[in-house]
Amino acid sequence: MDRKRINDALDKHLRSERSSPSTSRAGAAKLSSSSRAVAANEQLDSDTENSASDGDDAFWITWFCNLRGNEFFAEVDDDYIQDDFNLCGLSNQVPYYDHALDLILDLEPVQGDVFAEEQNELIEASADMLFGLIHARYILTTKGLAAMLEKFKNCDFGRCPRVSCGGQPCLPVGQTDIPRSSTVKIYCPKCEDLYHPRSKYQVNTDGAYFGTTFPHLFMMTYSHLKPQKPSQQYIPRIFGFKVHKKT
Ligand SMILES: [Zn+2]
Repeated sequence: MDRKRINDALDKHLRSERSSPSTSRAGAAKLSSSSRAVAANEQLDSDTENSASDGDDAFWITWFCNLRGNEFFAEVDDDYIQDDFNLCGLSNQVPYYDHALDLILDLEPVQGDVFAEEQNELIEASADMLFGLIHARYILTTKGLAAMLEKFKNCDFGRCPRVSCGGQPCLPVGQTDIPRSSTVKIYCPKCEDLYHPRSKYQVNTDGAYFGTTFPHLFMMTYSHLKPQKPSQQYIPRIFGFKVHKKT
């Protein structure tokens, strides 16, 4: 529960950061599901000097994946989300499922649905969770793996901190597939160990949004990228002599 609260607080903070003047339209348009359209229209009316150029690219998924701390996420195809088969079983895991799904897909809220501020916050949190759970499935598909390959090549997931791994790029992984159980870790395919992400913004991301299977399926799919295990083993020494282990 605590992590959830932290996540929510962080999200709120990031959202208010995003709605600063430099990124005003994208931020304002994401305020809440029911006020979004209104906010966007007001913004268009009042903000004539930059209304045309950046107006159409404020899709929820793009916005979400570009938030600070969400660098590990690949953008999931709309087509994938629109196929009910791919969302099977998620509706009973996510509160406000239908509203959260509309928010993710940038669909206008149903007329007459007016929510209190707390409900809007819940819907936004649910949209984050729903997207995360869809993401965990998507990155196991051919298209999802390919999207993550681009990010891997770009070192978006960070590098192994182990000296003998020589800066090996890592992959995100969850230690469980159950949401809200543990945060995302990075897996080094060279030393085959897990590490905490380096960014303080990433350490609150749910590991279940990447899942336990992803890095291993990724390395199996792109086997040419699988690195050799590190050859040298670090040997602790005192005044040049190997330290004897107590038996
Ligand atoms: Zn390593």
